[in-house]
Amino acid sequence: MDNTDIIAAVATPPGRGGIGVVRISGKNLRSLAQRIIGYIPEPRHASLSKFLDENGLTVDQGIVLYFPSPHSYTGEDVLELQGHGGPAVTNLLLSCCISAGARLAQPGEFTLRAFLNNKLDLAQAESVADLINASTGEAARCAMRSLQGEFSAAIHMLVQALTDLRMLIEAGLDFPEEEIEALQQAEVHVRLTAIHAQLERVLASARQGSLLCEGVHVVLVGQPNVGKSSLMNQLAGEEAAIVTEIPGTTRDAIRQAIEIEGVPLYLIDTAGLHETDDTVEKIGIARTRLAIGKADLGLLLIDSRLGITPADRIILDSLPAELPVIRVHNKIDLLDSFPQARNDEDRLEIHLSAKTGAGIDLLRKKLLEIVGWQPHSVGEGIFMARHRHLRALTEAGKHLNSAAELAGCGFQLELLAEELRLAQRTLSSITGEFGADDLLGQIFSRFCIGK
Ligand code: GDP
Repeated sequence: MDNTDIIAAVATPPGRGGIGVVRISGKNLRSLAQRIIGYIPEPRHASLSKFLDENGLTVDQGIVLYFPSPHSYTGEDVLELQGHGGPAVTNLLLSCCISAGARLAQPGEFTLRAFLNNKLDLAQAESVADLINASTGEAARCAMRSLQGEFSAAIHMLVQALTDLRMLIEAGLDFPEEEIEALQQAEVHVRLTAIHAQLERVLASARQGSLLCEGVHVVLVGQPNVGKSSLMNQLAGEEAAIVTEIPGTTRDAIRQAIEIEGVPLYLIDTAGLHETDDTVEKIGIARTRLAIGKADLGLLLIDSRLGITPADRIILDSLPAELPVIRVHNKIDLLDSFPQARNDEDRLEIHLSAKTGAGIDLLRKKLLEIVGWQPHSVGEGIFMARHRHLRALTEAGKHLNSAAELAGCGFQLELLAEELRLAQRTLSSITGEFGADDLLGQIFSRFCIGK
């Protein structure tokens, strides 16, 4: 991908609306501005302009904003043309930009340039996409904190502490006298323990952020008429907002998207799972199976009057062996019994009534508990994190473990220094200071066009 030419895209969503924004970025946009609006706009001022095609005919008129380099989102010259929000008119405007020398931007290319021009680090760039895709208010707030650099700052602190420790150890490599070594051992141990503890705190916070970012996928299974739809409606409840789907998931397998305490919960419908020769149905079933394979949790609904039946066992056996399953005994109102949660042989069983709502709060609480969500007060520092970040933090933790072992037995300085270097490199991959080009491709291709 050429990262020096002029790129343009419609930055507003498709469809009709009040305004449609075409965004343009490039090293120098003066001649393009001259062609499209006939003058070089005053920087950072809103001015009303005509937007002209290559023959000088007006295709639209609206507000133009000009952000000369380096004070712009991408760090390059940026021009924003705010015209009328209709697909035909915005596309015409985009064609004018292409005729004037721009090319169509790839998904995420504006943010990629911001990253390449050091306007954002990689974790911040990812949080731009996470903010746009956030499906609950809590997830959006959390993505905003990462965008403002809180997550990156925590990673930088760890990297800095590792750099200092490496300096101490590498100094020891040059002066391997015994006295220095004894002092050094104690100091290395103290510092290593502190870094490890801090890494664990960041990881715990990132795990919470990952729940907000990725949501929890729950498979709801049970025999017909056991109360699956009723439970779904109860869980969605009036107070629980219905949230949007996350892009890229197997949409048709998700029947309901809800939130509990700001954590997005995607309920996967399994009603359509049956033997069939119909090609279209087969595709749907394959998608549902895929969604079940990726689920975090299963809910098996049972009629509390019957307990678990052979038919329920068949359903249970059809679920992936590693999927944690909560057994929900429904219709307790018909038994006149009370809601309760029991841990039998490490199996969680909840008794409730989807009809009266008794026990639903208990189920909500247990659902969050099981996926590891810890209640936070609003605004508390959770870092928006993706699986990539969790993997890197976990891997860095392993290198620190190895380093601690080496420090404990015989103190082999060269090996110790190497483990610390690896931990540091892994952490730096989160913010993009160390990383491969293919990683950039993977990250930015998942953005929307125009961002
Ligand atoms: P599904 O086929 O599993 O989705 O089951 P539904 O949610 O459609 O429920 C089947 C029937 O059971 C409906 O008539 C519901 O009103 C009823 N039902 C569901 N949950 C309860 C419950 O907790 N108590 C009672 N008494 N009836 C329930």
